[in-house]
Amino acid sequence: MVLFTKKKSTEEKIYRRPEPLKTAAPKGRNNYIIIILDSCRYDTFVAANPRTITKLGELEKRYSYASWTAPSHYNLLTGLLPHSSPAQVYASEYYKKDFLKFNERFGVDGFEFKNLVPQMYIPSFMREKLGYTTRAMVSMPVLNPHTPVNTGFDSYKLMDSHNNMAAMLDEMSFSEERPSFYLLNVGETHYPYATPEEPENEWPRIHGVHGVFKHLDDHVVGGKIVDDSEELSFFTQKQLNELKDRQIEAIRYLDGVFEKLFDLVPQNTYITVTSDHGELFGEQGYFGHGPIMHDKVFEVPFLEGKLR
Ligand SMILES: [Zn+2]
Repeated sequence: MVLFTKKKSTEEKIYRRPEPLKTAAPKGRNNYIIIILDSCRYDTFVAANPRTITKLGELEKRYSYASWTAPSHYNLLTGLLPHSSPAQVYASEYYKKDFLKFNERFGVDGFEFKNLVPQMYIPSFMREKLGYTTRAMVSMPVLNPHTPVNTGFDSYKLMDSHNNMAAMLDEMSFSEERPSFYLLNVGETHYPYATPEEPENEWPRIHGVHGVFKHLDDHVVGGKIVDDSEELSFFTQKQLNELKDRQIEAIRYLDGVFEKLFDLVPQNTYITVTSDHGELFGEQGYFGHGPIMHDKVFEVPFLEGKLR
């Protein structure tokens, strides 16, 4: 009996809401863009020292609520962006205070945590209550348009390649009538930390891990079962250091893409840049993210603001 068949079609990658939902007259005054540099950990961002991205505002070290892509994106779309982990504060007090920041992001007054009840999902709220056009472009197959993360979006696209933020910019547009919300999940910072110009045959190929990456991809989008028989060998620290350097280089490359983004967005645009989780490069024997309990998998960069 065949339970799963492998097929990949354009329809699987692009979602467009078939009928318009009821939308509010526009109340949001700002376009709002949230950019997730997938797997980008805080200290590699600092080491990359990007000049353009940091024009947005002060760089903060924050902590992701989850250690891998899907729960982390779900969580931030509920409005809980990476947190600052304050001591001696009740969680409810922190949420209340943190949510007030959305007034500045959206350019509205009087928005608070309780306004999101019962759905507790930012895209739906923005669309139905604030009149936003809501769009997502994602790089990681675990966030494909068939997942529950795709709720409340007018359009939602899994990009053709996992590492091309510049291709997302080509598809962005803004209107005078309605403010736009964009979620961009950017994959250059994800393993194997490759920029779009780098030919695939030059990506680091370390026995086992690359295969798992490929299989994971297949498993998620088409149903190919991961072959557990493939033998994994662990990286040497030298290889891990090279991988970390590649993530740093990927951020430097992305800084140039941000320059193009900043030229493209209208004046009233608020942008948040952060990550969904960090990445381990050999600390205490760990590589990557996901089933890892380590500070570095939760430490993420966070910065936001309006350019002008
Ligand atoms: Zn991720």
